[in-house]
Amino acid sequence: MVRINQNYLKLQGSYLFSTIAKKVAAYSKENPEVEIIRLGIGDVTQPIVPAVIEALHGAVDEMGAKETFRGYAPDLGYEFLRNTIAKNDYEKRGCDITPEEIFVSDGAKSDCANIQEIFDADCSIAVCDPVYPVYVDSNVMAGRAGEYDTQTGQYNKVIYMPCTKENGFVPELPREVPDLIYLCFPNNPTGTVIHKAQLQDWVDYARKNGSIILYDSAYEAFITEDDVPHSIYECEGARECAIEFRSFSKTAGFTGLRLGYTVIPKDLKAGGEDVWPLWARRHGTKYNGAPYIIQRAGEAVYSEAGQEQVHEQIAWYLGNAKIISEGLAAAGFEVYGGKNAPYVWMSVPKGLTSWEFFDQLLTKAGVVGTPGSGFGPHGEGYLRLSSFGDREATRKAIERIQKMF
Ligand code: PLP
Repeated sequence: MVRINQNYLKLQGSYLFSTIAKKVAAYSKENPEVEIIRLGIGDVTQPIVPAVIEALHGAVDEMGAKETFRGYAPDLGYEFLRNTIAKNDYEKRGCDITPEEIFVSDGAKSDCANIQEIFDADCSIAVCDPVYPVYVDSNVMAGRAGEYDTQTGQYNKVIYMPCTKENGFVPELPREVPDLIYLCFPNNPTGTVIHKAQLQDWVDYARKNGSIILYDSAYEAFITEDDVPHSIYECEGARECAIEFRSFSKTAGFTGLRLGYTVIPKDLKAGGEDVWPLWARRHGTKYNGAPYIIQRAGEAVYSEAGQEQVHEQIAWYLGNAKIISEGLAAAGFEVYGGKNAPYVWMSVPKGLTSWEFFDQLLTKAGVVGTPGSGFGPHGEGYLRLSSFGDREATRKAIERIQKMF
């Protein structure tokens, strides 16, 4: 008899965003006159920049001519894009990463979720709490997370590393040594960062203990402060213990185009085995490659015009984050993040849970945020606000919140 992969039955429903959608729909139905402002979105809203659009048109035309038509993309991505990435994202930052170590893909979500496949089912994993849910869910599917405890909201085989205001939202080095450590900076949902010396401590810890760090740097383009690393390979020794995920989604608005990449240094070993050839093998078997047209679009992000245009867009989003942070701080809230990330992490008033505050904001201000508890137990007491909305709507939302208090 056919049996389902039992691990899939251990997945928890995508409770967070479906519950938000239901609550907002119910409130809107009863109060159709209220203009709802959504500061919960985790997707970009600005159009693709002109330099990229031009490259897309050019690549589409190439596909229509016999001499320039392209079929299957090379397994690891086109050389023109891997060379451009290696030069701009690594060489210019003093990181020793070669084009062969870059695996082009359709985005960071798939890579973050799939990377665990090349490690043993018994490997232990550690994640930040609160956290982007993909790391845990992909390990649940693989049977690595253990059983879910409804009391704690955690899986019993996962090592959760609390990120709190006391530790500046950077977890402490775990006493129980994990095999695989997922780190995400700038962080979703807290919008906070890790400083270079702190990240070096993690790299030293991983090297000493034979762990591998899976470093999600999807929001690096939002970094504005000097001592915040864009890449884990800015740290000494990271080639021996870290894999890095990058995305064009938030960097250049590619959430609908789909492009990202993963770096696996050739020095990286797991239990004495080279990791690079295994991911290359997997990539060749289970992955079709990002389309030529999209890879040309990605290359255009690094052109002079492309850089100017995407930086302008990111600065615009960060302008929204500043309005949110400053407005809420003026209203007496503790706010974190928002300087090097599109997310602001606000504390909820004392005595309220994240969901109770979510309800208050919705019903009293018509503003939608994302309850922090939905990202993990240590997210309780916080709400995530995003800077992806319109400028005027963002301003209006903050004014409405200020009037509530
Ligand atoms: N990593 C983090 C931390 C994210 O927040 C997201 C999307 O929200 C992703 C990865 C997904 O990136 P992509 O669109 O490249 O799949």
